[in-house]
Amino acid sequence: MVIKPKIRGFVCITSHPAGCAAHVQEEIAHVAAKGALPGPKRVLVVGSSTGYGLSSRIVTAFGFGADTVGVFFERPSSNGRPASAGWYNTAAFTEAAEAKGLFAGNINGDAFSQEIKDKTVEMIREKLGQVDLVIYSLASPRRTDPETGEVFKSVLKPVGAPFTAKTLDTDKKLIVEQGIEPANEQEIADTVKVMGGEDWVLWMDALKAGGVLADEAATLAYSYIGPEVTHPIYRSGTIGKAKEHLENTAATLRDKGIPAWVAINKAVVTQASSAIPVVPLYVSILFKVMKEKGLHEGCIEQMTRLFAEKYGNGNPETDAEGRIRLDDWEMKPEIQEAVKVIWPTVTTENLEAVTDFAGYQDDFLKLFGFNYDAVDYDAETEPDVPLDA
Ligand code: NAD
Repeated sequence: MVIKPKIRGFVCITSHPAGCAAHVQEEIAHVAAKGALPGPKRVLVVGSSTGYGLSSRIVTAFGFGADTVGVFFERPSSNGRPASAGWYNTAAFTEAAEAKGLFAGNINGDAFSQEIKDKTVEMIREKLGQVDLVIYSLASPRRTDPETGEVFKSVLKPVGAPFTAKTLDTDKKLIVEQGIEPANEQEIADTVKVMGGEDWVLWMDALKAGGVLADEAATLAYSYIGPEVTHPIYRSGTIGKAKEHLENTAATLRDKGIPAWVAINKAVVTQASSAIPVVPLYVSILFKVMKEKGLHEGCIEQMTRLFAEKYGNGNPETDAEGRIRLDDWEMKPEIQEAVKVIWPTVTTENLEAVTDFAGYQDDFLKLFGFNYDAVDYDAETEPDVPLDA
């Protein structure tokens, strides 16, 4: 079949296997160019198929030379419909890792479930013995409680007061004002249940109980803070409450004797971030400013800098709250001042001129394997790509 992008709102419902492979190859080449990095040799990544989790897996495999187990929730191709991008990414990653003589084990299913935790413990026991590093990089709109079966949904809403925000409809290329009512207590609690740290602890407990966590094993999760302009919807909103919980969970895990860290990453274009109101507009402005200052980074640049410069092979450089600050360049005063100057001036008419919306769109399409020069998008393509997962 010939596979073209089909965009519906903030998602693309098709993805291209050759383009996703090109995306993965590009990230591998970035890491390979840095040379070998010191780091753990047996790594579990939960949420390993796209975005920050995929780049983490690539850095640990191609930088540290680690054997990896990846857990993700992706859709294989069926009835002539392409698979999801994370499926194709994982197939390409696995082929490249195996070609390098590395183990790459894959588990496709709901990471919040006990069944998938059990399967993962089993695979680690059988193939790696134990793991030395666990990276927790899930971004999900819902979670089924493994004990009760109750389904919790996260919401992206302000807390305490309504919020009217300038936002970008990325599909229609329109700058619009969007009013969002505040979340109620239940919605706040549900968002914390989905995106907070509870499941991170359950993962670490399951690995420990299964005897597959090495004595010195550490764990890392990812969070975001961002500037004031996004605070009502992000840091002070429902998702921010969940992120605070996740950050506090690192301390809980440390109390249990597990070295646990949260890295505050920068805003990038991923499937998860494109769904957040205000963020695509902020990212389009941020990219413009950071590219002009030569400080632009995507997922792979961030994850390479994390492991090459900040993680300190288990002794990370942190802020006063114990967090690793990979958002240090994003939050530089000169970057945020420049964003603040552009923010009020953006209109539908000048969007392309005053922001890097073109860069945003390019990154967005690349998430699904489109916009790669080396790929012939008019060619017949086999959508069914095998993956043992
Ligand atoms: P993403 O959407 O690219 O990746 C999410 C991953 O989670 C995928 O591998 C997906 O398969 C997996 N996943 C989702 N639900 C699952 C489930 N039920 N079971 C198994 N796997 C599941 O997201 P991302 O933006 O890379 O986010 C990863 C982490 O990084 C999140 O904690 C996010 O908050 C954080 N972060 C993101 C940004 C950003 O700008 N994108 C910035 C800072 C921090």
